[in-house]
Amino acid sequence: MKNVKEFMAEVIRKNPGEVEFHQAVEEVVQSLAPFLTKHPKYNKAKILERMVEPERVIMFRVPWLDDKGEVQVNRGYRIEMNSAIGPYKGGLRFHPSVNLGILKFLAFEQVFKNSLTTLPMGGGKGGSDFDPKGKSDNEVMKFCQSFMTELFRHIGENTDVPAGDIGVGSREIGYMFGQYKRLSNEFTGVLTGKGINWGGSLIRPEATGYGCVYFVVEMLKTRKEDIKGKVCAVSGSGNVAQYTLEKLLELGAKVVTLSDSNGYVYKESGFTEKDLQFVLELKNVKRGRISECATALKGCKYVEGKRPWGVKCDIAFPSATQNEIDEKDAKTLVKNGCFCIGEGANMPTVPAAVKVFQDAKILYAPGKAANAGGVSTSGLEMSQNSIRTAWTREEVDSKLRQIKINIHESCVKYGKQKDGYINYVDGANIAGFVKVADAMIDQGIV
Ligand code: NDP
Repeated sequence: MKNVKEFMAEVIRKNPGEVEFHQAVEEVVQSLAPFLTKHPKYNKAKILERMVEPERVIMFRVPWLDDKGEVQVNRGYRIEMNSAIGPYKGGLRFHPSVNLGILKFLAFEQVFKNSLTTLPMGGGKGGSDFDPKGKSDNEVMKFCQSFMTELFRHIGENTDVPAGDIGVGSREIGYMFGQYKRLSNEFTGVLTGKGINWGGSLIRPEATGYGCVYFVVEMLKTRKEDIKGKVCAVSGSGNVAQYTLEKLLELGAKVVTLSDSNGYVYKESGFTEKDLQFVLELKNVKRGRISECATALKGCKYVEGKRPWGVKCDIAFPSATQNEIDEKDAKTLVKNGCFCIGEGANMPTVPAAVKVFQDAKILYAPGKAANAGGVSTSGLEMSQNSIRTAWTREEVDSKLRQIKINIHESCVKYGKQKDGYINYVDGANIAGFVKVADAMIDQGIV
């Protein structure tokens, strides 16, 4: 790599229009530039040039029949980004916004995140522009079956092991697993996030949210702070947000917001255990909207069309989607006294907003470090499948917690600055890079 500007110009030229991918690559390249100057062997082997090029991209047609008997056509993808340290691993996203650039950004991030977990997993990501919202169970099943009818030939327990992400939860994983098994005539751990009765791991549904909170607890310790009593703003109301809320309640924090793509709900006194049960039922069974909390939960207000970052809080947990905190939001958060950000979502903060947090020297954990608990527990699910056993909740939870502590230590090791400020972005990027880069050098020019 000659310099960041030239490197990025080439990435943009080769991947036109993929703005999220450019954004994710630029963040990593900025972090790595000084490190690479000190360690020229990586530049000599053109490691970064190779890492931004997916090992393989699969794109395919997904035709299916809706409940009216009409033909629908979606597009399916799987980005097999890097397999230097293990089989490709990363979620599937079903959302109308899905395109090649978004999945490449997610797959690229996944390579570093998976490396940080210390488990043997390469990086991948996939999905479709299919929108499960408003579809019947029957339609979701038909789509999942058609999607897997093409994907099954590209994946395998030792090749590529997908999981869930936005729009892909236990229902979708079940339908896809059923179709994989039928086509391959094999019962293997080819997907993670499976049901408990058929190869899933305890704590997997909770893992991303729990893990994000565990990471924040470690960050707070560096400032001799405790999470108990802290006011927290959470965005999203899906898998990650739900279990972030659950763990925060357990640890005595006060969670005042949740959201979806239409708006946010605010409860000044903080959500209770009973409220959480209502939200779990609303989102996972009834598949309703977060606005319904305002009528059902006492003291809860709904704010249409806004994100929750104007609410006063100590800690923010963006747990919905990419680029959901812009520069103005970041300034508002800091002005209101927020001193810690734990990213449950992938790349929820735009670069200018990251700068606001880092300039203010607040604790800021990027998604690849903070939300790595999900894929870590997927890795633990793969281990349990391989040895045909099932660990207890306590066993999985304690392994998850230890992994998050280790990731935090790696970030401190590589991210601590001369003035003592921990730059978790640099820490996560460098720590994640070194393991993959060294493996690539060992394996020759492939
Ligand atoms: P879910 O589908 O369960 O929930 C997504 C939530 O985010 C919903 O509340 C959804 O609202 C909201 N959301 C989605 N898109 C948008 C948007 N464009 N604008 C505003 N809100 C939006 O997904 P997850 O909870 O699994 O994933 C959330 C984030 O966490 C994603 O960035 C994902 O990549 C990341 N992540 C997830 C992991 C996992 O294990 N599940 C692991 C690591 C990271 P609505 O219902 O209105 O769409």
